Amino acid sequence: MKAEIIAVGTELLLGQIVNTNAQYLSQGLAALGIDVYFQTVVGDNAGRIRQAIETARRRADLLLFTGGLGPTQDDLTKDVLADYLGRKLILHEPSMRKIEARLAGRAVMIESNRRQALMIEGSEPLPNETGLAVGNALSADGTRYVLLPGPPSEMKPMFDGPATAWLLRQLGESRPLYSMTLRFAGIGESALEDLLIDLIREQTDPTIAPYAKEGEVAIRLSTKAADEAEAAARLGETANAIERLAGRYLYAREDVPLEETVVGQLRAAGKTVAAAESCTGGLLAELITGVPGSSEAFAGGVVVYTNAMKRELLGVPAELLEGPGAPGAVSAPTAEAMAGRTLERIGADYAVAITGVAGPAPSEGKPPGLVYVAVAERGGRTEVYELKLAGGRAGIRLRAAKHALYRLWERLNGFVTNS
Ligand code: ATP
Repeated sequence: MKAEIIAVGTELLLGQIVNTNAQYLSQGLAALGIDVYFQTVVGDNAGRIRQAIETARRRADLLLFTGGLGPTQDDLTKDVLADYLGRKLILHEPSMRKIEARLAGRAVMIESNRRQALMIEGSEPLPNETGLAVGNALSADGTRYVLLPGPPSEMKPMFDGPATAWLLRQLGESRPLYSMTLRFAGIGESALEDLLIDLIREQTDPTIAPYAKEGEVAIRLSTKAADEAEAAARLGETANAIERLAGRYLYAREDVPLEETVVGQLRAAGKTVAAAESCTGGLLAELITGVPGSSEAFAGGVVVYTNAMKRELLGVPAELLEGPGAPGAVSAPTAEAMAGRTLERIGADYAVAITGVAGPAPSEGKPPGLVYVAVAERGGRTEVYELKLAGGRAGIRLRAAKHALYRLWERLNGFVTNS
C-alpha cells in the first residue's frame, strides 16, 4: 500500500507550527510496512484541499489526513472529502452524546460542536479518546481514507489505536500490532543508530524505529503477534539485545521522559537533588518540578546567571570567574565549584550544576553549545562533563538540562562509582 499524508492547516503553511504529525504518522506507517511516498501540507481552503485530494489519489492508495476536524468553519476536511466522494455527512450518535455531556451546563454553541460528531456516510468512526472530534476511516473506489484530528494529543492515540487496527484489517492482517517504546538519554539519534546498526539491519521483526524526542532519543519496537504474551516475549528479546549494546543510555522501557524516571528513582532511594543553573536559567528545575511528587526528590535550585551571582549567592571563588588566566564562568572548575557549593548550601544528597554558552553569540570567546555539567554527591566524588551541543539556543538549553539529568541518572544507576 502506498500512502500520502495530507496535513491540513494554514498555521502549518505560515510556519506558526511545525508539522510534527507528519513525522509521527510516517514513523507509524513505516512500522506497519506501509510506504509513504509523499507528504503534503495544505491550508484551510476548500478548493486547495480538493486539489490535494485529486493529486494524492493519482499517486497513492491510502490518504491520511490530519487537522481540520474541529468545530469551526475553517475546519473543512470532512466537508471537502464528503463532497468530493459525493457522500453525505451523518451524525455519529455516540460522539454527539459525548459532546453534549462534555458541554453540559456550559454556555457554548452546541451547533458548531455538533460538527465534530459528523462522519462521512459509509465510513467507520475512529473514537477520540482525548478529545471530541471523531475520526473517520473509509474505502471508496479503491482508495482508502483516514481522517485524524490536528492536535497531537488527540491524533497520536487515535492513530496508534483505532486507525492502526483499521489499517491492519485493510492489509488483511488479522494479528494485531504491538509496540514498545525504549527511551534513551546521553546519546544522540545518529550515535545510537551507529551503536545498533547491525541489529537494525538484520532485524525485520520486531521493527526497530529510532526517533528524536524532546532532547532525547526513543526507539519504537513493533511486532504483529497472536496475543499479548507472544508480543511481550518478542519485544522483550529485542529490547534485551538493544540493552546489551546501549544499556548505558537506556533509562526506560516505556514512553516516559527522563525527569520522571530520575525523580522516581530519587524518591525510591529517599534521596534529594539540588540544582545550580546558569545557561539553562531554571530549565532543569522546571523539568524536575514538572513531575508530580517531585517535592520529595527536589530540594531546590538557584539560577546564578551573572558572575556576581555565582560569587555572592553560591560562593564560587572570584579567581575562577574573572581575571588573567581565570578559567571563566563557562569552565570545568566553575561547574565543579557550583555543584560543590550548592550541595553545601542547599543540603541535598546530590547537586547538579550547569554552565555554558546557549548562543547564538559566543561568550568569553567560547562557542555556543559548549556546556559544562557537574554532578556532586554527598560524601562522594564530583564529576564534570564537557559537552559540545549542536542546535539553536532553545535546543542547546534543553539538551544541556536533559544531559545533566542523564549524568545524575548514571550516578543513581551505578555507572559512576565513588571509588
Ligand atoms: P481543533 O478541534 O483543535 O480545531 P482540528 O482537528 O480541527 O482540531 P486543527 O484546527 O487543524 O485541528 O489544529 C489544531 C491544533 O493542532 C493546531 O493549532 C496545532 O497546535 C495542532 N496541529 C494541527 N496540525 C498539526 C500538525 N500537522 N502537526 C503538529 N501539530 C498540529
